[in-house]
Amino acid sequence: MKVVILDERCVGHGMCRLACPEMFELSDEDGHAYVTSETVPPDLEAAVDQAVRGCPEQAIVVEA
Ligand code: SF4
Repeated sequence: MKVVILDERCVGHGMCRLACPEMFELSDEDGHAYVTSETVPPDLEAAVDQAVRGCPEQAIVVEA
């Protein structure tokens, strides 16, 4: 499973980081989220799915 953030949609709520702090960080520069790795470890897939559902901007995209 892979995950990317659509930077043009992200406004920096930080909900993703709350859902899965291992995979999402917020930039010190613009406050937007970025992923710590594009490849999601199997044990974090559920938390990343939760982040996808919780993002108010639909800015997180996953691929199988
Ligand atoms: S929840 Fe969505 S909009 Fe908010 S910081 Fe994360 S990716 Fe960006």
